[in-house]
Amino acid sequence: MKVLLVFAHPEPRSLNGALRDVAIKELTAQGHEVLVSDLYASGWKSEVDRADFPSLAPDARFTPVRASGEAFAADALTDDVQAEIEKLLWADVLILQFPLWWYTMPAILKGWVDRVYAYGFAYGVGEHSDSHWGDRFGEGTLAGKRAMLLVTTGGWEEHYAARGVNGPIDDLLFPINHGILYYPGYDVLPPFVAYRVDRLDEAGFEATAERLRERMRTLATTPPIAYRRQNGGDYLIPSLQLRPGLDDPGVTGFALHLKGAAAAAPAQD
Ligand code: FAD
Repeated sequence: MKVLLVFAHPEPRSLNGALRDVAIKELTAQGHEVLVSDLYASGWKSEVDRADFPSLAPDARFTPVRASGEAFAADALTDDVQAEIEKLLWADVLILQFPLWWYTMPAILKGWVDRVYAYGFAYGVGEHSDSHWGDRFGEGTLAGKRAMLLVTTGGWEEHYAARGVNGPIDDLLFPINHGILYYPGYDVLPPFVAYRVDRLDEAGFEATAERLRERMRTLATTPPIAYRRQNGGDYLIPSLQLRPGLDDPGVTGFALHLKGAAAAAPAQD
């Protein structure tokens, strides 16, 4: 398979840098092709602004959605964005790797999503009708491909458990897994999370590395998170609410959007 790893840590000698190398080595040993987008090393521009749309008239009001759609349709996106889009189309698997910063991804990675996910490419795709609300959440440009998160946290695993003060990790990662990866069509694998890493010793590193190698070995076979398809009949259109009666007893919140959430324990690694 072809794997794109988007790496969002400023220090190559960090734990994240070491885990990235572990992942690449294992993937290569398995015969996969790997490309890395190293956002800090490449000086990735993270904010969306007028400079992203050179064809926009200087006196025109800047509307990011419209500018994005027009530039995508006219093949006029900037070279850095176009290169990332081509990598996404090339890759069978996308891995987003980052340290958890303030309960989400570092700003540079959010800015990669904001700029690379152009209108007409990642959103604004497909028709809207009484039974179909655009190609998204299970359909879209990137359907048929797999994606997963590789995350490190300072907090303990217990702090991210169902009753933990930080909130459950699957809830914290839902906007990324569901809103950023599932939205344009990816099958989203359970995240790889390494907890409590700030004082990791050699033994802890080796155990984490081995867990990661195993995930890299099973990239093609790990079952994806069972999110419901938006256009598959589970949601009312146009309210896009889960149909009454489909929810499992006792299941609330983000887990409503999982099939069989009551039976399946939240997928964490
Ligand atoms: P590093 O600091 O590079 O390394 C961590 C440890 O791993 C070090 O002790 C290092 O010696 C050791 N290590 C062991 N083996 C190796 C090896 N082979 N190579 C490299 N290192 C090794 N945490 C949360 O839980 N929730 C948050 O919301 C949160 N917000 C944060 C916000 C900010 C702005 C920052 C800076 C941190 C935040 N943190 C948070 C903590 C953060 O998630 C961790 O510091 C981060 O995940 C650690 O990853 P790292 O790659 O930076 O580790």
